[in-house]
Amino acid sequence: MNFTRREILTAFLGAPFALVACRDSGGPSAPEGEIVGADVSLGHVLREGRNFEVPSDNWEAVKVAIVGGGVAGLSAAWRFRKENFDDFVLLELEKEIGGTARSGQGTPVGYPWGAHYLPVPFAENAELISLLDEMGLVEGRGAGGEVVISEQFLCREPEERVFYKGRWYEGLYLNAGASEEDKRQYSEFQKKIDYWVNWRDACGKRAFVVPVANCSADPEATELDKVPFAEWLRQNGFTSERLVWYCDYACRDDYGLKLEQTSAWAGLFYFCSRVRKSGEDSQPFITFPEGNGRFVNHMFETVQQNVRKGHAVVSVVPNEKGVDIACLHGNELRGFHCEKVIYASPMFTAPFAIRGFREDPPFAANEFQHNSWFVANLFLKDRPKPKFAKDFPLSWDNVIYESPGLGYVTATHQKGIDYGPTILTYYYPMCAEENGRTKLFNYQWKDLADVCLTDLARAHPDIYELTTRLDIMRWGHAMISPCPNFLWSGVREKAIKPYRNIHFAHSDLSGMALFEEAFYHGIRTADEISFRSSGSVVK
Ligand SMILES: Cc1cc2nc3c(=O)[nH]c(=O)nc-3n(C[C@H](O)[C@H](O)[C@H](O)COP(=O)(O)OP(=O)(O)OC[C@H]3O[C@@H](n4cnc5c(N)ncnc54)[C@H](O)[C@@H]3O)c2cc1C
Repeated sequence: MNFTRREILTAFLGAPFALVACRDSGGPSAPEGEIVGADVSLGHVLREGRNFEVPSDNWEAVKVAIVGGGVAGLSAAWRFRKENFDDFVLLELEKEIGGTARSGQGTPVGYPWGAHYLPVPFAENAELISLLDEMGLVEGRGAGGEVVISEQFLCREPEERVFYKGRWYEGLYLNAGASEEDKRQYSEFQKKIDYWVNWRDACGKRAFVVPVANCSADPEATELDKVPFAEWLRQNGFTSERLVWYCDYACRDDYGLKLEQTSAWAGLFYFCSRVRKSGEDSQPFITFPEGNGRFVNHMFETVQQNVRKGHAVVSVVPNEKGVDIACLHGNELRGFHCEKVIYASPMFTAPFAIRGFREDPPFAANEFQHNSWFVANLFLKDRPKPKFAKDFPLSWDNVIYESPGLGYVTATHQKGIDYGPTILTYYYPMCAEENGRTKLFNYQWKDLADVCLTDLARAHPDIYELTTRLDIMRWGHAMISPCPNFLWSGVREKAIKPYRNIHFAHSDLSGMALFEEAFYHGIRTADEISFRSSGSVVK
């Protein structure tokens, strides 16, 4: 489809901004670049509902097949390997492993294509800590038993800044120019957060904690899921523009949703789940230049001989003996007879891939609604020059207040390399768009590159000269949407139960797209179908 520049910029950055941008220039000269990743043709193959006849000599037998090599599938595989269970394959449709946590190799550093940080887990999250320990990230334990991560892996200062009316300011909440009323409301908001951080149900469970499986099901907390976060803020008298912006930013950033699209339960989860005690800061972030790609690559190294990349699973057929899986590897059909399956692909794909699911659905897969994003990696020959000497300096996370985009993360930040070439990862959730996915795939590289550069040029007019290359990933099904009435509707509970010999593991099951949630479900499913005593051990 052909759109004018003005139409594209209006759709992504708003009409007033598009008007000015198009008046100021007829369009910048674009650097080199391309759309990378995600093969969208599989969706059509699955929807056709074809019968796939695997040639009789193309079958293998394994005890377990893991479908999907994102963090959930990899965590299950990692767990099997740790338990010395080796009789499994992991089938990943893409040529690269990692799903939405995958990363790229660049100069001078790697860079993320999606997930880029993990908050330090609470001491109770022993499984996740054992992964961090194995990766050499853990320095020891604090007096209260909390895990201490080596300093070089924690996001260093300056962590975050926000661009507002031509200047950069420290942090994400805009303190500069706050009125007395803004300050009062911000302080009242913190009191609400403290209330929920301290809240415990009759069994001592917290309202909001990671993983979601450990959250209280007490109605006082779960009723919050019925209300949009925007309405909860209004009901509680929070009208301060900068506070509302801050909450909206949080929803767009973590969930790809606007404030009015997010459930209040999910909104409060963002602010409360990583705060150990009221008055304390949220847990610090573990990050790397390549973001969560570091975890992906570590787990992949431990299981790589079991991984088959470029294997798109097209049918999963439960039968008396177990489950038969057919997958496409290029044009070749390959089959796996297995006893059990860990299904770590997005939940909405289950009715298309699993035989018998649609006829007698064990849960409503269409309630697992995803939203779309695009992510751009910009390769810069040098750092953008500050417009004002007193501007807050380039940080890890750099957000533009007036933009519907989320700004960018600096890949060289953790390396402490403050001069010279760098890579900026720009994030744009399609939350303002109905049918965001279809729209996203109607745009070409040059359209999205223009959106990204024009948006960033508000803060960095020199971005055009500095960018030598710009690649884009379109995430059609980027992350699950925790809209009102989804998280506590009961659908997740049903979907967590195995369907015949198929165990679902995707992070969708938590209703939150987070590393910890994918990891939790990977470990859970691996443990559910453990073959530890069967003798199938690594030789
Ligand atoms: C832009 C973006 C930024 C994010 N930032 C963060 C962050 O900073 N921190 C954080 O914790 N989380 C973040 N997340 C969320 C995080 O990436 C995910 O929650 C987590 O990695 C999901 O892992 P998963 O394995 O459940 O799913 P996915 O990543 O969706 O992996 C599913 C895998 O299944 C494969 N697959 C699908 N269908 C088939 C098939 N038929 N056959 C074979 N394979 C198939 C896919 O190719 C994919 O590899 C972000 C997500 C996005 C999109």
